Amino acid sequence: MNATMTRLAAIVSAGALAVSACGDSTERAGDAAGKAAGKTADASARPVDPASVRANELGRVPVLMYHQIVPKPASVYDRTPAEFRAELERLAREDYVPITATEFVTGRIDIPAGKHPVVLTFDDSTISQFALGPDGAPRPDTAVGILLDVARRHPGFRPVATMFVNSAPFNDPDGRRTLTWLHRNGFEIGNHTATHVNLGSSNAATVQREIAANQKAITAAVPGATVRTLALPFGIKPNPPSLAVHGEHGGVRYQHLGVFLVGSNPSPSVFDASFDPQNIPRIRSQGPKGPDANFASTRWLNDLASGKVDRYTSDGDPTKISYPRGTTAQIAPAWRKLARPY
Ligand SMILES: [Zn+2]
Repeated sequence: MNATMTRLAAIVSAGALAVSACGDSTERAGDAAGKAAGKTADASARPVDPASVRANELGRVPVLMYHQIVPKPASVYDRTPAEFRAELERLAREDYVPITATEFVTGRIDIPAGKHPVVLTFDDSTISQFALGPDGAPRPDTAVGILLDVARRHPGFRPVATMFVNSAPFNDPDGRRTLTWLHRNGFEIGNHTATHVNLGSSNAATVQREIAANQKAITAAVPGATVRTLALPFGIKPNPPSLAVHGEHGGVRYQHLGVFLVGSNPSPSVFDASFDPQNIPRIRSQGPKGPDANFASTRWLNDLASGKVDRYTSDGDPTKISYPRGTTAQIAPAWRKLARPY
C-alpha cells in the first residue's frame, strides 16, 4: 500500500506539470463564458464583499473517495455506516456543500458565499452504496440513504454525489432501475470501466472497449444521461494515458472532461493553473489512524479546517473568481477574464 500511495503521489505531481497538455480548453472556456453570463439562479443574489467571507476560489477542494459502506469493513477502503454518517455530519458542520465531479471540472461551483465545495465519489457500484427498497426509495442503510438523511437534517447540504459504476451496477442487471433513480435525483453517473479492468496492463483495444461498452450500457439504461467523467480502476492509467480521456470502440465514442485518480491529497481548484483535468487527485475516506492515514480524509479535513492547507471558499457569485492577493496559487489563463483578486 505504501508503494502504491507513493507512486500515485508521483503521478499526481507529474500530472500537475503536464497541465498545458489538457485537451478540453474549448469546453472549459465555453463554461467560463457561461459562468460569466450568470446562468444560475444565485447570480441575482445580493453581492457579498469577498473579503468579508475570506473567499478563495483558488483554494483546494477535497474530492472524497468511498468504496463499501458496511458494518464490518473488509479493508481500509471501506467504512462503517456510522463512520460515513459522521464524516458527512462533519462536512455539513464545517460549511461544505457537495457538488458533482462534472460540476467541479467545468467550474460550475454555484454555492453560497463562505461555503466550501466537496466532491463525494463512490467507486465500484456496490449495493452498500445504493439499493432501492420495495417502495422505490433508497434503502436508508445505504450510502445514498444516509446522505439523503444528513441532507434533510442540514438544509443547504446538497444530496449529490458522483457514482463511478461498472457493468450491472448495484446488482441491477441492466442498470435501468438504479441508474435512472440516480440520474433523476441529481446524482452523476461516471465511468469506472465495464469489468474493473487494470487499464495499465490492457492493450489499446481492450481499454477502449472497457470504457465504451460501459458508457453504452449507462446511456442505454438512462436515455439523456451523458458520461463526462472516469475514475481509473486501481488508479492505474492506460498506455497512452490519453485513452482514458477519449477513444472509440464499436461505434461508441467517449470524451471525458475529468479523469480521477486514487489518492492522495486535496485537488487544486479547477480555476488554478496547476489543475490538470486528466489527473484529479482524490482522498480516501479514513479515520485518523491506520495505513496511510496521512493521505486520507480525516487528516486532510483537519488541515483544510485549520488553514494549514488553503481551502476553496466561495464568494457566492458564479460570475466572478475571487481570491486574496498574495495567494501562491495562480489563476488559469482560461479563467482570467473572471478574476477578482482583493
Ligand atoms: Zn474500483
